[in-house]
Amino acid sequence: MRRKIVAGNWKMNLDFQEAQDLVENIANLCEDKQPDCDIVICPPYLYLEMVTDMADDTQLFYVGAQNVNENESGAFTGEVSAKMLDSLGTNFCIVGHSERRKYFNEDNAVLAAKISKLLQYQIVPIYCVGEVLEEREANTHFDVIKKQVEEGLFHLDVADMENIVIAYEPVWAIGTGKTATPAQAEEVHKFIRTLIAEKYGEDIAAQMRILYGGSCNAKNAADLFAQPDIDGGLIGGASLKAEDFISIAVQASK
Ligand code: PEP
Repeated sequence: MRRKIVAGNWKMNLDFQEAQDLVENIANLCEDKQPDCDIVICPPYLYLEMVTDMADDTQLFYVGAQNVNENESGAFTGEVSAKMLDSLGTNFCIVGHSERRKYFNEDNAVLAAKISKLLQYQIVPIYCVGEVLEEREANTHFDVIKKQVEEGLFHLDVADMENIVIAYEPVWAIGTGKTATPAQAEEVHKFIRTLIAEKYGEDIAAQMRILYGGSCNAKNAADLFAQPDIDGGLIGGASLKAEDFISIAVQASK
């Protein structure tokens, strides 16, 4: 039985006080509602320490970064390394979010290197894959996702693969209010699990957690999470409201 994950991607939102208020509200609601899933909060880098302190104090959630540099250290002004994240106690890191692919030109090769670097520091990558609208309309989405999975992950050995989380995020559904139907999402999740099984075997595929992301909210989460291959969600907009985020986590607990 795979334990579900609900991960909140705060993106580039909130000032420090707002971030502190949000994480406190999330902790209070967690205590109150006792969701039975892994909760991950992915704030901007600047707030990682504050959120990690809260996670350490309460033991109610995990902490993730939104990005990492693929190099060990050195002259990369403005960048943050896996070693730095590890030194703060960061548990997860989003890799290959569609916004990073689009605005920062991150390709599958650089994402593969980021994933290897995170694994070296025992940080769990949440590797994002997903097609843009034109690709879905042209019915090439399975090819696109296959390429992203193969080029981003298939350099890993079996032991590393056990520590990977995948997020299927159709780009046309991110921040648009347009969600994939549970059937559309399940079809892709099942396809990804089959790809993993063919390369790494049934056991690895069966334990791999594959999250859905793309306008997932308190209203549609239950139907998405009821699908057999959907193991939780990567949540953008709805993770900025404590009530909505924890309501989604409660729905992942059923
Ligand atoms: C995301 O950015 O990963 C995401 C899923 O955003 P939203 O939930 O706002 O669509």
